[in-house]
Amino acid sequence: MDKKGINRDEIFEKLSKFQEKDLTHSSGRILGSMCTCPHEVGREAYSMFLESNLGDPGLFKGTKELEDESIRILGSILGKEDVCGYIITGGTEANIMAMRAARNCASISNPEIIVPKSAHFSFKKAADILCLELKEAELDENYRVDLQSVEDLISDKTVAIVGVAGTTELGKIDPIPELSKLCVEHEIYLHVDAAFGGFMIPFLKESSYDLPEFDFSLDGVCSLTIDPHKMGMAPIPTGGILFREEKYLDVMSIETPYLTEKKQSTIVGTRAGASAAATWALLKYMGMDGYISLAERCMEVTKLLADGIKKIGMELITEPELNLVAFRSDEMSVDEMASKLEKKGWAVSISSYPRAIRIIVMPHIKKEHIIEFIADLRQIII
Ligand code: PLP
Repeated sequence: MDKKGINRDEIFEKLSKFQEKDLTHSSGRILGSMCTCPHEVGREAYSMFLESNLGDPGLFKGTKELEDESIRILGSILGKEDVCGYIITGGTEANIMAMRAARNCASISNPEIIVPKSAHFSFKKAADILCLELKEAELDENYRVDLQSVEDLISDKTVAIVGVAGTTELGKIDPIPELSKLCVEHEIYLHVDAAFGGFMIPFLKESSYDLPEFDFSLDGVCSLTIDPHKMGMAPIPTGGILFREEKYLDVMSIETPYLTEKKQSTIVGTRAGASAAATWALLKYMGMDGYISLAERCMEVTKLLADGIKKIGMELITEPELNLVAFRSDEMSVDEMASKLEKKGWAVSISSYPRAIRIIVMPHIKKEHIIEFIADLRQIII
């Protein structure tokens, strides 16, 4: 470290130089990320609560109220208002918490979890941290989890089954009603990872979209991940974990001798109150109508993209269920296409199963970006 500090102006000049190297969502060029430009209301709320620590909620009673109310509102759009939970760092932390609750509830040796092959890699982290054996269920022809495969993997060591509502790579929705039935029959904990779909499916269902049930309205669902920093447009890091009952928090609680709360069930100790403030502000500011029109707009742009891809003779991996399009071409490998697109300034990502170009139509992607993208794509394959 330098002995003397540098002055403020110089610091910010240097920071700007670093920032210039970053891509920005507002350019419309980031096509392969589940993050987006945080909404200005969320940004302002976040910066108002920078010093607030939800790990010591007795000192920040107002922020705690914001967190509790955010959880209630999220519960109300997800089939159960009286859920319990926290605003946390994101989908990974939420999924680890859910697996921890399931493991501790079952309290058996050599516990196993069953996740779809399409599940986010955070479950691999959860399995590693929590010493769980991870069993991967096969997918059906539509890239949703295959129920028979899940059933075949159930053993007396199974402590949780996971269903995904909006898969990371293809945006598919697993058959959660059927998984719920299976879990009720076998008395197994069911966790739904709706990190991506949680801010889309309820709003599209309110609109004219015919999508399956996936939330606490199904008896078997014990917990659910929903990420405000994805389609909720909150600043990073802002995740959400909801549990059907308090008992799931109790099995994870650890005594906190010197803080204003006596027990803690979260993984993280010092927690950003700013994330709760931003979530509350956005839920209140957007309301049902705001999130419905956001979801509808993303789906319209998704359709434009999917139609454009088909028109230039490329193959969609699957019809988009949510705002995610994956495609490939017979003419060129996926890697070559991605690298040519990158040279034209497009940051796409590549799905692993199956390998394809993967585009998530987040709120920062507008129709004009898609029109430009399709024109570049056409040039690349000619
Ligand atoms: N779950 C799903 C379905 C996701 O798509 C992601 C990230 O894309 C996660 C969990 C992990 O979320 P985070 O990156 O916020 O930890």
